[in-house]
Amino acid sequence: MFAIASGALGQNPDGSSAALWAATGRAGGSSIGAYRSLNLAEYVGDDAGAVAENRRRTAGLVGLESSDVAVMGATHGAAVGVVSAGGTVPGVDALVTDSQGVALLALAADCVPLVLADPGAGVIAAVHCGWRGLGAGVVGAAVATMRELGAVAIEAVVGPAICARCYPVPAERTASLRQALPSQISDVACIERSGTSFIDVRAGVSAQLAALGIAALNVDVCTNESTDLFSYRRDTVTGRQGMIIRQ
Ligand SMILES: [Zn+2]
Repeated sequence: MFAIASGALGQNPDGSSAALWAATGRAGGSSIGAYRSLNLAEYVGDDAGAVAENRRRTAGLVGLESSDVAVMGATHGAAVGVVSAGGTVPGVDALVTDSQGVALLALAADCVPLVLADPGAGVIAAVHCGWRGLGAGVVGAAVATMRELGAVAIEAVVGPAICARCYPVPAERTASLRQALPSQISDVACIERSGTSFIDVRAGVSAQLAALGIAALNVDVCTNESTDLFSYRRDTVTGRQGMIIRQ
C-alpha cells in the first residue's frame, strides 16, 4: 500500500464499507525526475504514459480502473461538476456523484484536496481548494450540490496541504479573503504576525465545514515540509498528489 492515508466512510447494511478513500503522496509511481514518482497531473510537463500508469495504480487503491475515475481540471473557482462516469471534467474545482463504481479524484500540491461522503444517501464529492477557492466558496458549493442530490449526514476527510507557517503571502491576499469571507472563517484562515501575512487554507476549509455542520478527519501533513509529498511552493516544477473517493 503506497497511499499516505486511506480509510472508509460509513457502512452498508451488509457491513461492507460504503465509501473508500485514499490520499496519495510521491511514493509508488512510475514518473522520474521532478515528478518522482506518483505524479497524477497531465498538465505539469510529465510523461503522459507515466501519468496514465500512476492513475491506474491510484484507481487500484479503491478497486477501480482508470476509466472509472473522474478528475477535475481545476481552475481555482467554485464551479461544481456532477458526473456519472469517469473522465476529465474541465473548469470545475469540485466533483459530485451519486453513481456507484465511479471514483472522484482531486489533485493538489499545497492547495487542500478533500473528499466528502454521505454513505447512507449514496452521494460523494472531491474538492480542490486553495486560497482562491476558499474565498470563492467551493467547499460550500460542493456541499450544496451534495444536498441537492439527497445528502444529509455528510462526513469529510481533509488531505495534505501547506501549513500556515510555510505560506507567507502578500498582505493584499489576506485583505481580499477578509473581504470575501465571514469573520468566523477569515479569522482562522488569515494570520498577521510580525508584519507578515499568512494563510491557513486547511483551517479555513475546516471552519467552513464546521459552519456547515460537517465533521472532518485531517491528514495533517505539511506538503512544503514533507519530502514524501509534492509542493509547488517548494519545487515549482513538480507533480501533483491526489485524494480519491468511490462508493
Ligand atoms: Zn509547513
